[in-house]
Amino acid sequence: MYRTHNCGELRSEHIGQEVTLSGWLNKNRDYGSMTFIDLRDRYGITQLVFNTETNENLYNDAKKLGREYVLRIVGIVAERSNKNPKISTGDIEIIVSDLEVLNESKVPPFTIEDETDGGDEIRMKYRYLDLRRNPVQQNLFFRSKVAIETRKYLANHNFIEVETPVLIKSTPEGARDFVVPSRMNQGQFYALPQSPQTFKQLLMVSGFDKYFQLVKCFRDEDLRADRQPEFTQIDCEMCFVTQDEILQTFEGLTKHLFKTCLEVELSDFPRMTYDEAIKRYGSDKPDTRFGMEFIELNDLSKGYGFPVFDNAEMVVSICAKGQADSYSNKDIKKLTSWVQRPQIGAKGLVYVKYNLDGSIKSSVGKFYNDEQLMGWLERAKAEKGDMLLILCGDTDTVRGQLSDLRLEMGDRMGLRKTGFNPLWVVDFPLLEWDEESERFHAMHHPFTSPKEEDKERMLTGDHSTMKALRADAYDLVINGWEIGGGSIRIFDRELQAKNFKLLGFTEEEAEAQFGFLLNAFEYGAPPHGGIAFGFDRLCSIMKGAVSIRDFIAFPKNNQGRDIMIDAPAVIDNIQLDELGIGVVIEKDA
Ligand code: ASP
Repeated sequence: MYRTHNCGELRSEHIGQEVTLSGWLNKNRDYGSMTFIDLRDRYGITQLVFNTETNENLYNDAKKLGREYVLRIVGIVAERSNKNPKISTGDIEIIVSDLEVLNESKVPPFTIEDETDGGDEIRMKYRYLDLRRNPVQQNLFFRSKVAIETRKYLANHNFIEVETPVLIKSTPEGARDFVVPSRMNQGQFYALPQSPQTFKQLLMVSGFDKYFQLVKCFRDEDLRADRQPEFTQIDCEMCFVTQDEILQTFEGLTKHLFKTCLEVELSDFPRMTYDEAIKRYGSDKPDTRFGMEFIELNDLSKGYGFPVFDNAEMVVSICAKGQADSYSNKDIKKLTSWVQRPQIGAKGLVYVKYNLDGSIKSSVGKFYNDEQLMGWLERAKAEKGDMLLILCGDTDTVRGQLSDLRLEMGDRMGLRKTGFNPLWVVDFPLLEWDEESERFHAMHHPFTSPKEEDKERMLTGDHSTMKALRADAYDLVINGWEIGGGSIRIFDRELQAKNFKLLGFTEEEAEAQFGFLLNAFEYGAPPHGGIAFGFDRLCSIMKGAVSIRDFIAFPKNNQGRDIMIDAPAVIDNIQLDELGIGVVIEKDA
């Protein structure tokens, strides 16, 4: 037998019992005639004692053992003289009477402790060792709990879990597909799903009514920080539902997860339209844990002879509470350089300080008198000690830039550290005009329905009015992160065909790519809609962590590589040849 108990289990009540434990040698400390070993497994750490008095040979053997050796021991549970309240087994120790080395270990390349000395790269290469560390294990236990509670909640609400295929044809969700060559159909390729979107819609056509799946999705995007080429969604779809019913159901799921996995009671989620979110925060995923909302100043700032503002479409500011004193000229300069970085791209930054003594100081003091500047401060409801930060430019661009600045100020002022602020952002535009390619893109995806009142316009209106179409599309946002997104779908062939047309598909292309869906719509497709949550992200947000990698057992690095197994990798010519992807094998002459 390998064990009678695990390493986190023994307490004072076990004192005097003979037990068998197995685990890894976490640490050993030798004091001349006595050696202590911390034996570790998933459940905890138990202290083992070897001394010359009870068994000299064992003591000598134990002294030689290295970190991460795998041991099996038999011994008697004894009371510790030095109790350790920090660990669950801290009241006891084991006086070892038998020791077996089940396996040896090389010295690990970093310490297997909560705070390790290993850098990112080395920990990813030896991920199986990193996964031995308690904080990393805790993250995966948490993830498992969230998954189990998700299944419980959805099962209780009549959802059934259905697996959809992984080898499919491309689904356009805005990213590139990963493709898989087909050996049996040479020259042809499968795509890995960016999401099971079309399949879950077909399941609704089939009458399953409520579907969910915890599912891997694949997107071949340029990897920005903290994106993974493969990630997990809680993917859901429902029949005969309104947007409101979907939001209720998934607000319920979110509350359930926070309650059961974190013991946090969330209050009802506010709803905000997309337009409002953009106007108030410059973002469709605002972090609403703090205010610092946008204050537009066009009417108070244009026409006073300051050309930069006069020529701008939008002059807009945020009010940083209590910051007037904290920002010297040098600090303002630094902040200006920060907004001018290419990632943000603002041309400059204007400030107005409302000093504690009531005086006003501004970088545009030459163009505006105190009374005029006071008008801005009043609109911003600024108090003495506050500072306005102002950007200007094209409306869309400057709002995005100010949103970045708002988040940066929120960070600097410590306003983004704790708490959970979920909200629904609703009524997204259906289509987005892309200046470069001079065509529309689907803001959510091509299966999203316009709002009921916009359907007529979509079918009959002229091109110039399509920008204004609003969709029954919604996002769940928590603390500035998009956690989930979905929509009510088109279930009418004509409307779907029109949408493909607006998105630039010819009839033939639409037929070739989505004929199956268009056909399905001709056999009694019910009204339906759904949502998908980013599962990795949800876990990381719930735990207040920054990186989704911490919640994925075997993540890829920022270049999309798995550096442990060394993938992607070249494959040999024989394999390429079998797949028929254009490699000529050179034969010996
Ligand atoms: N398939 C969508 C996505 O992955 C979610 C949905 O519309 O249900 O974002």
